[in-house]
Amino acid sequence: MAIAASICAVCNPVAIPACILGSTAPDWFEWILNAARSRKLKHRGVTHYLAAWVLAMLAAQFLWDWRGMLFWFAAGGTVHWVCDALTISGAPLGWWSDRRTTLLGGRVRTGSVLEYVITGAIVLACAVILWTRGPDRGFMPYFMDWAGLYQRGIIDAAEWRAHRWEIL
Ligand SMILES: [Zn+2]
Repeated sequence: MAIAASICAVCNPVAIPACILGSTAPDWFEWILNAARSRKLKHRGVTHYLAAWVLAMLAAQFLWDWRGMLFWFAAGGTVHWVCDALTISGAPLGWWSDRRTTLLGGRVRTGSVLEYVITGAIVLACAVILWTRGPDRGFMPYFMDWAGLYQRGIIDAAEWRAHRWEIL
């Protein structure tokens, strides 16, 4: 979720909620499908096909989208795949896969220090990109630069005081 949200924050901050929803979707799609049927699906199975998530991104890009939300939802699902593929058990490329694919040797254990290091590094890199853009970083619906808005005379002191501790 943190990786998907920070990449989305750099590219299209408005779509962050859709992207976070998408980044968890392969797992909750699986819960929903399991709840709807008597036989349980294989974990990291049909909802974890990289090809399906990438096709959804392409469809959103070239066929139909709603304000970029569908694209970033699918991008979140793709990020989920990449993160699952970094783990020992891996994730399937597509419906033709008879085994799961791992990235970089699948060395990451869920909940391990390495997992936090990778996540932290990506979040930090995205934060640096955002911060170095400064006031020209465009409209950010989250992490609003209230002090900057006040300094530039866009809002008054009362508004700054009311909002200065708000993050979201
Ligand atoms: Zn998963």
